[in-house]
Amino acid sequence: MAVTEIAPSAATTAHEGILRRQSIRESAARTYARSLPIVPVRARGLTIEGADGRRYLDCLSGAGTLALGHNHPVVLEAIRKVIDSGAPLHVPDLATPVKDAFTTELFETLPRQFADHARVQFCGPTGTDAVEAALELVRTATGRSGILAFTGADHGMTAGAMTAGAPTASGGAPDVRVTRLPYPQDYRCPFGVGGARSQELAGNWTETLLDDPKSGVVPSAGMILEPVQGEGGVIPGPDSWMRRMRKITADRSIPLIADEVQTGVGRTGAFWAVEHSGIVPDVMVMSKAIGGSLPLAVIVYRSDLDCWEPGAHVGTFRGNQLAMAAGAATLAHVRENRLAERAADLGARMIRRLRGLAADHPAIGDVRGRGLMIGLELVDPEAAESAEATVAADARETGAAGPAPADPVLAAAVQRECLARGLIVELAGRHTSVVSLLPPLTLTDEQAEAVLDRLADALSAAERAIRSRHETHRPH
Ligand code: PMP
Repeated sequence: MAVTEIAPSAATTAHEGILRRQSIRESAARTYARSLPIVPVRARGLTIEGADGRRYLDCLSGAGTLALGHNHPVVLEAIRKVIDSGAPLHVPDLATPVKDAFTTELFETLPRQFADHARVQFCGPTGTDAVEAALELVRTATGRSGILAFTGADHGMTAGAMTAGAPTASGGAPDVRVTRLPYPQDYRCPFGVGGARSQELAGNWTETLLDDPKSGVVPSAGMILEPVQGEGGVIPGPDSWMRRMRKITADRSIPLIADEVQTGVGRTGAFWAVEHSGIVPDVMVMSKAIGGSLPLAVIVYRSDLDCWEPGAHVGTFRGNQLAMAAGAATLAHVRENRLAERAADLGARMIRRLRGLAADHPAIGDVRGRGLMIGLELVDPEAAESAEATVAADARETGAAGPAPADPVLAAAVQRECLARGLIVELAGRHTSVVSLLPPLTLTDEQAEAVLDRLADALSAAERAIRSRHETHRPH
């Protein structure tokens, strides 16, 4: 049969040109661009259209910024209204009707006991700016320098935030003294026990460190935690453990900072994830979805911590009016349409279906999450010959089996296969082996089915590809 050469379309050529120029011009640190080589030109709701004409279901949602998906009509209308009104687009720190409306709506969404005695600080526009502000606030308020943070945490990319997060190549800020505490989890439990006992041990360890005068822990200005660890691998902090952390910090007058940058605005099935446990933190850090897809970050904190001098925390871009308008519209829409409840319900059904898949896919080590923040941890169940697995097998004999080793290679293959099927997913977790789903809260039942169908299909294809590679390389 003659092979006919098909000339690439103009769209494909343009798309490839843009990707090629990006790879030449942009830094080696580029991330999403490597694993998701697409060129978005149009987007609506769950769907992104690439310059090559392909359409994708987007479960990355701008790294969790899009509570309502792309270009939701209420967000676009709010942005247009500001533009058409002739209002300034940026006014650092000044009062405006747009900011006033945003603040009113934000306080409306917060737990009452918190909102009634709280102040807000508009920060530089990213989550990490707000984390930095929170750390600075509690250090000023307490006069102490130590920070309590958790294994696997991610709080952003500035030096202080990085120091509170899990270690990275650049190391963070040496003057911030962080004590690392265990974040409880069932699947890879740091104590090897899981469940309620794991939470109890994590709490006991925290208490012991704080009360032992020789533990080496410097006096703590604050404890910062994510109610659900996102980048750490989609790990929900158990409610009883959250309450214990609240009690431990309250008893010792240590401000508790809830980093809700990723978990906020209905994502986990409550408007704010702290509501699941009912705790009232001293500081809440918010960004991503509060700007309705535009950059915006704030901290809200107990008013008696407000001992900052005027100008103590400044920054140029703290008055983005379009972000405040888009954010206010998003917060109101999520609240009025009870999208947090919708996320709780739909997320639970998606998790159930994913757990059902595990029966046919031994590479699914764990399915976990809360609301529409869902993680699928992929493992290598056949790593039996490795030394690690032998130890695990010994442990199994003694009744203390650990999970199979994480499989980042399979996870990367699943991400590629998803993209080939028109589905955008992100990878997270300590070993980059967790497929993370952050779909918009507006996801319909049919869209959820389509996402899970494509994911299941991608998983089968990735497993087949890896199995056939193993078979080709196996000695005969
Ligand atoms: N905190 C949490 C919990 C996050 O997930 C992130 C971003 N992944 C940040 C802070 C930092 O936010 P940003 O990237 O906007 O600086």
